[in-house]
Amino acid sequence: MEFKVSELEREPIAFDLELAPGAVDFGNEAEQQGMLATSGEAEVLHEHRGPRDIVADIRLRGRFAGKFQVPCARCVEPVEIPLEADFDLIFRPVAADSDAPERSITAQETEIGYYQKDSLVLEDVLREQVLLSLPVRTLCKPDCKGLCPRCGENRNSQVCSCEVGPSDPRWQALAGLRGRIESK
Ligand SMILES: [Zn+2]
Ligand SMILES: [Zn+2]
Repeated sequence: MEFKVSELEREPIAFDLELAPGAVDFGNEAEQQGMLATSGEAEVLHEHRGPRDIVADIRLRGRFAGKFQVPCARCVEPVEIPLEADFDLIFRPVAADSDAPERSITAQETEIGYYQKDSLVLEDVLREQVLLSLPVRTLCKPDCKGLCPRCGENRNSQVCSCEVGPSDPRWQALAGLRGRIESK
């Protein structure tokens, strides 16, 4: 869904959608499971910078809710996580700030996004908002044993025979010591 500034200038536009998987590209970081529900409203805010300098910002307020699959940080098995969040964002036309490089960026302004040309694409905003709300590190369970660094076996389901071996630096040190003793 695309919000055109010219249409928003007439009146705010409300939205209430269910997006099928694939409508928003989340890359490799998350896989959408089922529908992604989103609703809210877009409107134009006029930023008066001077008597003849009025910038048309788009304010997008709303929420989303959906289920996503992300890989476990240790064993890479898919983990399903429900996500939902509210957002209240301001988007400024790209051109509005490009000719004023000397404008200092305040902490408040870092929250401002930009829209290209004359419209804002809802799917682009949702991609960013969903990725931002993902936990930094997801585990399938708190005590996930992860993958064996040697054979790649998932240690949660299989006990491999290389639990302790030459890859362990303590054993390598011992092996080296034994080698020196035997060579004397
Ligand atoms: Zn895991
Ligand atoms: Zn192993």
